[in-house]
Amino acid sequence: MEATSANRPLLVLDLDETLWHGILDPAAPEEGRLLLRPHLKSFLDTVAEHYDLAVWTAASEDWMRVGLKLVALETQFDLEHRAFFLWHRDRCTWRRNEAGEYELRKPARKFRARWIRARYPAHRILVVDDLASNYDCGYGHLVRVSAWNGDKEDSELQALATYLASIAHEPDLRRIEKRSWRSPSL
Ligand SMILES: [Mg+2]
Repeated sequence: MEATSANRPLLVLDLDETLWHGILDPAAPEEGRLLLRPHLKSFLDTVAEHYDLAVWTAASEDWMRVGLKLVALETQFDLEHRAFFLWHRDRCTWRRNEAGEYELRKPARKFRARWIRARYPAHRILVVDDLASNYDCGYGHLVRVSAWNGDKEDSELQALATYLASIAHEPDLRRIEKRSWRSPSL
């Protein structure tokens, strides 16, 4: 296992529909059914060579931990214990959307906390999420992935690992145009 280092960037991962797809049984949350996205093991192994990792999910802490234990069991990658932080619903903020409904958001300003900044300046932090609206105030960090709902042929994580490895050395990750990361011209 590689040690964390001041020079490594931080990659903040969303969970639901990014790394896995879950069907929560409200009557028994601990028994929710969870499927891991194809290529998850090679994705985690590859990005961990280049980035320190963290988790930010809008799900509950219980759901997050159930899922991360399954990830460790099935991939031998213990993201729960390797993550620089594990943020769940309590770290999100309720915001009103255009329709007037409240939604959970992940305000990127939270990356400016001193204990994070001391190790990872904002220009060295990327987030991976299937919902751009999660990060409405921090697009510079975002690498958007397609939402995964169980398609066994999905290869998004494979392509994403290659892309993330290719830009990890860039001094300012926020300035890179990341919206077209799937484009063959990259
Ligand atoms: Mg998600």
